[in-house]
Amino acid sequence: MVLRLSKLFLRTLREDPVDAEVASHRLLVRAGYIRRAAPGIYTWLPLGLSVLRKVEAVVREEMDAIGAQEVHFPALLPREPYEATNRWTEYGEGLFRLQDRKGADYLLAPTHEEMFTLLVKDLYSSYKDLPLSLYQIQNKYRDEARPRAGLLRGREFIMKDSYSFDVDDAGLDASYAAHRAAYLKIFARLGLDVIPVAATAGAMGGSKSEEFLHPTEIGEDTFVRSAGGYAANVEAVTTVVPASIDFSNAPAARVLDTPDTPTIESLVAASNQLAPRSGADGGTWTAGDTLKNVVLAVTLPTGERLLVVVGVPGDRAVDLKRVEANIGSFLPIAGEIGLEAANDGDLKKHPLLVKGYIGPGRALGEAVLGLEGSTKLLYLVDPRIVSGTSWVTGANVDGKHVFGLVAGRDFTWDGVIECTEVREGDPAPDGSGPLETARGIEMGHIFQLGRKYAEALELKVLDQNGKQVVVTMGSYGVGVTRAVAALAESNHDDKGLSWPRAVAPADVHVVAVGRGEDIFEAAEKLSAELEAAGLDVIYDDRPKVSPGVKFGDAELLGVPTILAVGRGLVDGVVEIKDRRSGEAENIAVDKAVDYVVNAVRSR
Ligand code: ATP
Ligand code: MG
Repeated sequence: MVLRLSKLFLRTLREDPVDAEVASHRLLVRAGYIRRAAPGIYTWLPLGLSVLRKVEAVVREEMDAIGAQEVHFPALLPREPYEATNRWTEYGEGLFRLQDRKGADYLLAPTHEEMFTLLVKDLYSSYKDLPLSLYQIQNKYRDEARPRAGLLRGREFIMKDSYSFDVDDAGLDASYAAHRAAYLKIFARLGLDVIPVAATAGAMGGSKSEEFLHPTEIGEDTFVRSAGGYAANVEAVTTVVPASIDFSNAPAARVLDTPDTPTIESLVAASNQLAPRSGADGGTWTAGDTLKNVVLAVTLPTGERLLVVVGVPGDRAVDLKRVEANIGSFLPIAGEIGLEAANDGDLKKHPLLVKGYIGPGRALGEAVLGLEGSTKLLYLVDPRIVSGTSWVTGANVDGKHVFGLVAGRDFTWDGVIECTEVREGDPAPDGSGPLETARGIEMGHIFQLGRKYAEALELKVLDQNGKQVVVTMGSYGVGVTRAVAALAESNHDDKGLSWPRAVAPADVHVVAVGRGEDIFEAAEKLSAELEAAGLDVIYDDRPKVSPGVKFGDAELLGVPTILAVGRGLVDGVVEIKDRRSGEAENIAVDKAVDYVVNAVRSR
């Protein structure tokens, strides 16, 4: 196909759009690929649509290759299925809700788990029908709090979402593995660098989960990685657990007066004055010797406010996102929760919690943590609090701390939770070296949903023994419009876009430079020959546009090969330039088509 710039519905802009925060947004608007319709909502113009369709095609081919079958759901959906899974409410402000003329509730789907589950339930009833994977490439709607960076975080965006249905866990593992491999192929074909990072299942309540992050400074996701290849979402990092210590000879704990020491800093300073330690004993006290007990308030999906205490080494801050991601299994019900530090009002309801002096253990004042009884609060500890470790911690009495409180001897806990900040330099859990932090954009997400949705919506099949079993599901997403933005983001320079061949809106951009009729005739002929050779061509045939503007537009649009027909024509040559490297060569006119075809083929 030859797209003529004299006819193409395109206006390139010299000025950056005022709301654009990142290069991809700026350039996609300036190069005439997209236009903003409303915050986070974009119109696709011909060139943008061409790139989008190419990304979709790659995704579709790889989904088809693993045997997933394409369907297409409406984006406008009734409330009921989302009510059954509680997501009508749980989704909170992110959900676009609306009513029809009769007052019935509808929503614009933010994701389609419910509909896929119901569709399969509608039509299938036997293990013989499974495994099954279905997918769609569809608009999603989320009222994002901060639609930013153009297509990277839209309020309407296109996602490829697929769902797998299996009769047992082994089947789910296989479906998950197939999707994982397909995703790696998709991103490799698109030329988009991604790292699969371990993620937590979070409120969705499944088990295994990985995100495919494209590393970039502008990413909103922080993750950690080691030189040895470990990569994980901060929420999913597991702590290297120290070995437990034999405490049979550990001295008994003792309570000391430590007036005015409600903070770790003041406690450490006071400890070094009041109870100096010998070098053999570990030297001066540091924050890492203290056990800090932080009271958190969890708002359950029912609205109930529950206090939870987490015990962490005093030199580490509590990371609420990590707590939130990992606390689910300790709570009485599943679902989205609210989480914040407890306030004074919360503490007042538990008079045994003495602010600044909270500690676990029985024989030490009026202890409340890790004890049976009415005032018992859920007490969770960081994995570093292993049996035999000895701590300085609150004595649950104003102005008093206890020294040498031994874990497993003097106090216990209800559970171990990943809840503290992950720091650069912390060891990777797989022994592959120290962790460093990096930023990325989530391009895709694969997720073992398990039976949550199938249970809520009663998707069951008969197994081999004629018994009804709940189907186990996986859910897998690729951000298709986000991929277009990420590709623009990682393939541009100060002159404009520079598409990888796999997604470029054309293979070659032919520019007729100058005024001579011979130039336009030659450019016209070359464009036709390139088209006949099977290439997609953009041909800048605009008669009265200056060479500067034409070259500027060619570099802004970002087609990988630019073929200029101009002054060299009298010597029988045209200039062929690689958009990315900037390298240009004069090639004989009659060799030009072969040259370009080779460049396209060799990618
Ligand atoms: P994020 O953390 O970036 O909000 P998410 O965890 O909400 O993403 P999922 O619900 O797993 O994302 O959706 C699957 C994929 O859809 C994501 O991996 C991402 O590529 C894409 N996606 C999600 N939200 C948006 C959005 N607002 N705009 C564009 N793409 C999105
Ligand atoms: Mg999101």
